[in-house]
Amino acid sequence: MGRGYSPAAVAPAIYLETYGCQMNFADTELILGHAGTAGYVRTTDPAAADVILLNTCAVREHAEERVIGRLTDLARLKAARPELVLGMSGCMAQHHRVTVTKRVPMVDLVIGPDAYRRLPALLDAIRASRDPITDFRDAPDDDPNATPRGRRARVATDVRLDPSEDYADLRSARAPGAVRAWITVMRGCDRFCTFCVVPYVRGRERSLPIDAVLREVRDVVADGAREVVFLGQTVNAYRDGACDFAELLRRAAGIPGLARIRFTSPHPADVTPGLIAVMRDVPAVAPQLHLPVQSGSDAVLDRMARGYTTAAFRELVARVRDAVPDVALSTDVIVGFPGETAADYDATRRLLAELRFDQAYLYKYSPRSLTRAAAWEDSVPEAEKSRRLSEVIALQEGIAVECHRAWIGRAVEVLVEGPARRPAGHVAGKTPQYATTVMNGDAAPGALVTGTVVAATGHTLIASAAVPAALDLAG
Ligand code: SF4
Repeated sequence: MGRGYSPAAVAPAIYLETYGCQMNFADTELILGHAGTAGYVRTTDPAAADVILLNTCAVREHAEERVIGRLTDLARLKAARPELVLGMSGCMAQHHRVTVTKRVPMVDLVIGPDAYRRLPALLDAIRASRDPITDFRDAPDDDPNATPRGRRARVATDVRLDPSEDYADLRSARAPGAVRAWITVMRGCDRFCTFCVVPYVRGRERSLPIDAVLREVRDVVADGAREVVFLGQTVNAYRDGACDFAELLRRAAGIPGLARIRFTSPHPADVTPGLIAVMRDVPAVAPQLHLPVQSGSDAVLDRMARGYTTAAFRELVARVRDAVPDVALSTDVIVGFPGETAADYDATRRLLAELRFDQAYLYKYSPRSLTRAAAWEDSVPEAEKSRRLSEVIALQEGIAVECHRAWIGRAVEVLVEGPARRPAGHVAGKTPQYATTVMNGDAAPGALVTGTVVAATGHTLIASAAVPAALDLAG
């Protein structure tokens, strides 16, 4: 039975589920922090919530269908408890702001990534009055998802893209005691790659003031974090006046108590000599770089509007590897992009085999409405996309295992995150290269411990602080 709305008696409870990229997870912490200052408390039980919010991703159709299925499930709770507020935030909310309420009519709230500041006010309005609120101020007339303004009642919608919104003054609610903190330093993207919906749903690039970022780093270190991960859609496009991303890293690395800094996701075309120099010269900046290549074919890269050629990308990889010993490189690849021929695909496969990334996130293309590529013929048949994807996955799995095995016999420094799930008497953490490592011992979370790698799978290193043990990681 529902608890009803009684602000004087019980703080309303908010339940959030997060889909998609790390920026969305950071936005969930932002939403929870902002809702917390407005009197909402977090619950991990949707059945106990007064507000349920799914913070969603629009990058892939598959993820969107999962969200629709989950909303449909959760709508059953609302059927039993009409006062429950069921909402959706994030990129998919922005992208499908109108169609989602057709597919799941129980949805009360649709809020985009630039409107979280207004979330408490919208929630309070819905819960206090139960009056319909309709606000389609940002639905452009040519939006294929749009319906005539105001036609549907009972949905609170705020999907305005605000190029000045950076949330620099809001406090995120992070998990207490976490060793690693994720800090958004810039939002949006100006690049408009032809397959990507991000510039349409997260708006244009904007960077947080450097003072706000450094204050956040000091705060999370004071709360116990030893590592920060700077986040942005094109994080290395960060700029505040004369301070570029390399300078931001350099200044953050000077904060006492901070052991490591990482960042994601950089754009290859924005990797400057200054950034490589900081990765080379500043020990706290981890030797780990995500370089999304997307394709090994210049013709496809050109149609994707990526802004580099395969030759420039190879040269960049060589410079980074030359400057930063033992750097771990990862990448993103899309197979089956419109017009990708067998020869284009083969060039991608060969590039992966040649550059030997430690890790690769491999996808098959799916059209996203609003993007330029969505208007082009989706020319590679689904079965062929799947075949290409399976082939590169198998290739990359082999490379990843070999990359990990190359660490056997070498010393690694592990930032301990907590007890390992197995075996007993071991801790788990990450190397500077972000390799998940299991090591004997009982060091506390946040400790930096050194061991020797004795075994490796494609996903995990096993290290020994003393005598190599025969570890059973199966089961
Ligand atoms: S750089 Fe391209 S792929 Fe990355 S977020 Fe921007 S538009 Fe999307």
